[in-house]
Amino acid sequence: MTSAKYNGPPSPNKAPVDPAVRLARVLARIQAAEAQSGRPAGSVTLVAVSKAQPVEMVRAAAAAGQRAFGENYLREALAKMDALSGLALEWHFIGRLQSNKTRLIAERFAWVHSVDRLKTAEGLSHHRPDAAPPMNVCLQVNVSGEASKGGVDPGGLIGLAREVSALPRLRLRGIMAVPAPEADAALQRARFARVRALSDSVRAAGIHLDTLSMGMSADLEAAIAEGATMVRVGTDIFGPRPLPNPA
Ligand SMILES: *Cc1c(COP(=O)(O)O)cnc(C)c1O
Repeated sequence: MTSAKYNGPPSPNKAPVDPAVRLARVLARIQAAEAQSGRPAGSVTLVAVSKAQPVEMVRAAAAAGQRAFGENYLREALAKMDALSGLALEWHFIGRLQSNKTRLIAERFAWVHSVDRLKTAEGLSHHRPDAAPPMNVCLQVNVSGEASKGGVDPGGLIGLAREVSALPRLRLRGIMAVPAPEADAALQRARFARVRALSDSVRAAGIHLDTLSMGMSADLEAAIAEGATMVRVGTDIFGPRPLPNPA
């Protein structure tokens, strides 16, 4: 892209958004965090959160090698999937789940990170097409006790995990959490440690899990230090979100 306007030298805050450059930076941060915590290179998967970003941004990140994309809003996600159907992308639904949308989500996504009720899990399993592999599912746990946030209460996690793992067309993979942001790094780590402990408690109950989905732009290092296997990063790849969130 060319522009006749010269806006001065790039400043860190106003750097032009080139998803390829930013993606490489985020991948380098992930690598450094893996090494720092003695974890094997490549043990953390990056889900690029493209919600509220135009399809061109997704295309640019895909051209730079990114394969997994996360979306929060079904209608917006479907439009991007249709526009990019020629690319072999893996779509992750990470937003609030409504039971009247489980059919389309089950048909179009590879992963859902935000299951927090048996009813929606049953809907996803029921609607998962026979021709598709079982849907990969994480249970979202609410570790901050914020009523406004989705997620099952920690006390209900093992019971829900047991029920969801019995559903035929789902494959329970792990736990997802969005802890409230915390400026203090040690406190942020403690929140992620709590999520990991909850995940360990599910495993101790004999339920197989291999995924811990936690960490975003601001705190992916703390999450990886506490065992995240998937980080969900939007802003640091795509820049600030330009589109307003649909109602
Ligand atoms: C928007 C969103 C993200 C990405 O957050 P950034 O701060 O932009 O990296 C990750 N996870 C969930 C569930 C989100 O809604």
